[in-house]
Amino acid sequence: MALSTKFKDFQIKVPEVSAAANQSECFADTQPTNQEIEQLVAQYGAPLMVLDCEAIRRQYHALKNALPNVTLHFALKPLPVAAVVRTLLAEGASFDLATSGEIDLVASEGVPSERTIHTHPIKRDSDIRDALAYGCTVFVVDNINELEKFIAYKDQAEILVRLSFRNTEAFADLSKKFGCSPETAIEIISYAQQLGIRIKGLSFHVGSQSPNPTKYVEAINACAKIILQVNELGLPALSTLDIGGGFPVPYSAEVLAIDVFCAPINVALAQLPETMQILAEPGRFIVASCVTSVASIMGQAVREGKTWYYLDDGIYGSFSGLVFDEAVYPIDSTKQGFTRFESVLAGPTCDSIDVVSESIMLPKLNNGDLIISRMMGAYTLATATDFNFFKRAEVVVLNEQVHGQELTG
Ligand SMILES: *Cc1c(COP(=O)(O)O)cnc(C)c1O
Repeated sequence: MALSTKFKDFQIKVPEVSAAANQSECFADTQPTNQEIEQLVAQYGAPLMVLDCEAIRRQYHALKNALPNVTLHFALKPLPVAAVVRTLLAEGASFDLATSGEIDLVASEGVPSERTIHTHPIKRDSDIRDALAYGCTVFVVDNINELEKFIAYKDQAEILVRLSFRNTEAFADLSKKFGCSPETAIEIISYAQQLGIRIKGLSFHVGSQSPNPTKYVEAINACAKIILQVNELGLPALSTLDIGGGFPVPYSAEVLAIDVFCAPINVALAQLPETMQILAEPGRFIVASCVTSVASIMGQAVREGKTWYYLDDGIYGSFSGLVFDEAVYPIDSTKQGFTRFESVLAGPTCDSIDVVSESIMLPKLNNGDLIISRMMGAYTLATATDFNFFKRAEVVVLNEQVHGQELTG
């Protein structure tokens, strides 16, 4: 189409991970030490999820500095915990909600509704009503059927149209399930104009744990074309672009430092009209590093020459992300400086798939010894179950007060 020739694609060189600064160095010095963790287990027992609010503040500000012109709406989904909401609220964050349960959580913590958006592309009428009753007025649609649900609420609601751009490199290619093509977006925006429903702007989610910024740049370029096209068609101008979540963290592999990762994104955003309001919906990046999980060994057996250690937490508990999220957490024993043997770490349930690691080098361990896993904040506890009636790990909150060290349970 002729309109698109007016717009020049930005060709952006994306840095290599090995050539650029990476994120993981900055974590080591701020994580709770083995000694601190042993003290917490003495006090609270095991299994635990030790949640450090200072790490949440650090991550929020790191992303804020890397995306200076972007309003960050923390997506609750990876770690819907009250202390996380309180910490981010105090730092000035906004929030991205997807369900009425998430609305209840932010409402109970006193989050002003103007600081929230509701981004589930598929909603029941009751979901829309719950959000509006709280005062959240920005919603996402990606199809005509969903748009028509807002006829009844056109005086209150404003809509973001979600685009889909496939990303097979990400952990979760969210564009497979949600989002529409640029052509469909134009149809939705035109139809909304006929219906008298206000379209606020566009959104996308490139997929979680995106390894490089290329997909964001491509998506921003495509959205810039749509924004031009909307103007050319004489439709009301779009005011907002929501660039979603997906910002990566270092699990067992390095990832780009966040300012390096975001540099090409900022360049792509700079081409948009100056008045355009830019939002993002980071989840994993904000919370992945704030939780250290602690499990203890319940028992052990030698099977085919390898020692199996059975933990009090597993795949059906805090390690659920191994199944649902494909994350590879750094896992180790608190015992250092001994000869290590190839071992198996199993979860507590009576199910054979409940194995945390088929092969991990560990020293000889005793029942009651601790296994510590880092980077366990995102999509872990959130997807844990009570299968076999093993209760979920208790969350212990550290550093909730900015200058204090007190525990708030
Ligand atoms: C899950 C989700 C997020 C958070 O994504 P991360 O990859 O954890 O940053 C943001 N927005 C929407 C709509 C989501 O579904």
